[in-house]
Amino acid sequence: MKKLIIVTLLIMVASCATVKQTTQPAEKRSARAARSHAVLPPEGQSGQTGSEAKAVTAEDSSSVEARSHPALAAAEDQDHLILATLWFQKSAEMRALFYQCFRNAGIALKENLASSGRTGTVADVSLPEPGTFNEESLGDNKRAASGNLQRTELPKPAAVVIDIDETLLDNSPFQGWQVLEKKSFNNDDWFRWVELARARPLPGAVEFTRYADSLGVEVFYVSNRTVQEMGPTIENMAAWGFVNADSTHMLLKETTSSKVERRALIEKDYEILLLVGDNLADHSGIYEKRGPDHGFAAVDADRRLFGTRYIVLPNPMYGNWLNDLLRAAPGITGREKLVNMLESF
Ligand SMILES: [Mg+2]
Repeated sequence: MKKLIIVTLLIMVASCATVKQTTQPAEKRSARAARSHAVLPPEGQSGQTGSEAKAVTAEDSSSVEARSHPALAAAEDQDHLILATLWFQKSAEMRALFYQCFRNAGIALKENLASSGRTGTVADVSLPEPGTFNEESLGDNKRAASGNLQRTELPKPAAVVIDIDETLLDNSPFQGWQVLEKKSFNNDDWFRWVELARARPLPGAVEFTRYADSLGVEVFYVSNRTVQEMGPTIENMAAWGFVNADSTHMLLKETTSSKVERRALIEKDYEILLLVGDNLADHSGIYEKRGPDHGFAAVDADRRLFGTRYIVLPNPMYGNWLNDLLRAAPGITGREKLVNMLESF
């Protein structure tokens, strides 16, 4: 009898465990669906039809800013993004790094301005405190800069070139949505997110653009958002107070992901003193194709430019670094390719 009771209890425990295993994912799926609808509108409410949204092209799939490589699409599994996205959203280290990078960007810009053959000095201008806008002090900076620099002697006015996504605007909710929905990147979903104009500014980003403007440096945005995404991008950035959030200063993607030509266009009339971005292709064309050494030799050769002319922000979620890994690595699935690239001992 005692044995029978024990066996019955064991069967009940096993049954409960089985029920828990089969019902929990359904509950999680339902919670995911509820959360995802809070981020993106239901199909058909974006105001843009699928045919109007830009089509996925072969060029897009190897875009310098492609957010997920096609090799990872087969399993419809975006779990590789979980830790990277959580780090971006939840780590204090990420916030500290952004503040650090933008503060370094301000210092470098001021130094480059002072040492770029321009007369006068900008020594009396100061960086704003993160998270605060002191309109009065920024105005003083501008007056000081314009008063000290004799611009008539300059061959070209100074400019700073800044990327937008994961440099100024935080699109990690879109990455989170991809994980929860197990969806690889596609342009229709991306456009729906952009059209919401709901991306938040990254730490220190708004302040840096306003600081650059206060120095009299022209702020340009060079991004691989497409020209069709100009309207909501301007709306999104203007709402947070980014300077020059207009079509004159925003050079978006028309036909090619390479930013070389757009930078050259700016350089016709301006001297670019600083480039800021989360992808090395935001800084130079030599990083667009990296080769078997992942671009390490090129970075080593340019090491003196980092922190002085190039400011690089951290993005573990996507970028050329990941695209190149997946292109080069052996393996059947995207996950296998990534695992095969791991260094171990
Ligand atoms: Mg970017």
